[in-house]
Amino acid sequence: MNSYPTAEGRKVLLALIETIDTNGAYLSEIDGATGDGDHGINMTKGARRTKEKLGDQNVTVPQGLDMLGQVLLAEIGGAMGPLYGSFFIDMGAACGDSPAIDKEVFGKMLKAGMNAMQDLGGAKVGDKTMMDALVPAVEGYEKAVAEGASFSEALNRMAAAAEKGKEGTRDMIAKLGRASRLGERSRGILDAGAASCSLILKSFSDSFQSAEQK
Ligand code: ADP
Ligand code: MG
Repeated sequence: MNSYPTAEGRKVLLALIETIDTNGAYLSEIDGATGDGDHGINMTKGARRTKEKLGDQNVTVPQGLDMLGQVLLAEIGGAMGPLYGSFFIDMGAACGDSPAIDKEVFGKMLKAGMNAMQDLGGAKVGDKTMMDALVPAVEGYEKAVAEGASFSEALNRMAAAAEKGKEGTRDMIAKLGRASRLGERSRGILDAGAASCSLILKSFSDSFQSAEQK
């Protein structure tokens, strides 16, 4: 697997939707420990609306990401609606009209998504947010590519770095969002956004790696 066909966006989008949907309760449970317990509800609402909008259409990867992003941005509240909305929209835009998503194209997509979230949310690594999964994931991916890793290997390293980053949020004190009101009491609990981010990146990794061997 050196690349994923851009035309096959439906599969990527449905996998993201299913990942979010099946983990909704888990994500809300984590958010409930430090926030208002709606992270999974917000995510699931966005995923289900996107599924309705998609219907039986075939979409390319950028079209699918744009569809999900627009729903999150326009229809879903909370911190994550606009943040993930911009993330997916800018990821899709960075794919452009490349016929296949290879390790270089996906690297650009990841970076664009991360920059969008960074510009909008202003969170830094260590603030106990989704950036704590996303930033190390992008760095891990880029490092793998720079070292000559295959697309699959780079995706695996991205997913592993996201998971590690997510686990790291357990020891952090929240600096942003609702959880910041808890101060020291937010320590010892995972961050919900970092958890959803790790799941989302794993879903991309699995979808791309399910492409037939070329
Ligand atoms: P709300 O906090 O409005 O209830 P959600 O529950 O959907 O929204 O999302 C909460 C998650 O959003 C947090 O766990 C955190 O990861 C993330 N988050 C909050 N503020 C920011 C920010 N400025 N930048 C990035 N992520 C953020
Ligand atoms: Mg919340």
